[in-house]
Amino acid sequence: MIVILLGPPGAGKGTQATRIMEKNGLVQLSTGDMLRAAVAAKTAVGIKAKEFMDSGKLVTDEIVIGIIADRIEEDDCRQGFLLDGFPRTLAQAEALDKLLTNKNLKVDAVIEMKVNDESLVDRITGRYTCAHCNMGYHDTNLKPQKAGVCDSCGSTNFNRRSDDNRKTVVARLATYHAQTAPLLPFYKEKGVLRTIDGMANIDDVTIQINNVLSKL
Ligand code: AMP
Repeated sequence: MIVILLGPPGAGKGTQATRIMEKNGLVQLSTGDMLRAAVAAKTAVGIKAKEFMDSGKLVTDEIVIGIIADRIEEDDCRQGFLLDGFPRTLAQAEALDKLLTNKNLKVDAVIEMKVNDESLVDRITGRYTCAHCNMGYHDTNLKPQKAGVCDSCGSTNFNRRSDDNRKTVVARLATYHAQTAPLLPFYKEKGVLRTIDGMANIDDVTIQINNVLSKL
């Protein structure tokens, strides 16, 4: 099963991807996570990507398509995968179609997580993750049960993304509307678009997504 989670930054794609992956045995492929790892490791790709990421712009299609083309060849992708943050342009969507067609595969569903723009800045600027297991938290909406201690692994170290600041978030939202939103009609036309209410609470969003997946 090949599923794409589509929605603006802060819609909850990463949080939901982790949950869905655990339940359905799909691998989560997040180009954002892969690029952040490349930036941290100071690879050639990371060095090129950093400036785009820091300014809220998209990394070039060539770079991200290359990353995904290599990644889906790996063994753990054989049972299917969940794309989180890719594709983000029509060129990426078309390249993905080609890569999949060559493997006799296709996108089974594109789940649009619909949210109000106004809620996104607060969602994003308040979020942080466990430095050890990557579990996501939020200053007001999703605090660890014990302050300063990760619920999942007990670590006391947390990270905030450098691009989760107000200025970059506004740029990322504009980028989403200009370059990624055109994917909605593209996938609607193909009959694979499913829209869910991303404003519902986290558990309800998971239920909506699982409902879509159970019908595939
Ligand atoms: P994300 O973690 O998905 O919010 O991505 C963080 C940043 O990585 C984005 O603002 C982009 O600069 C870059 N990025 C992630 N995925 C893509 C993609 N599919 N195409 C272009 N840039 C991407």
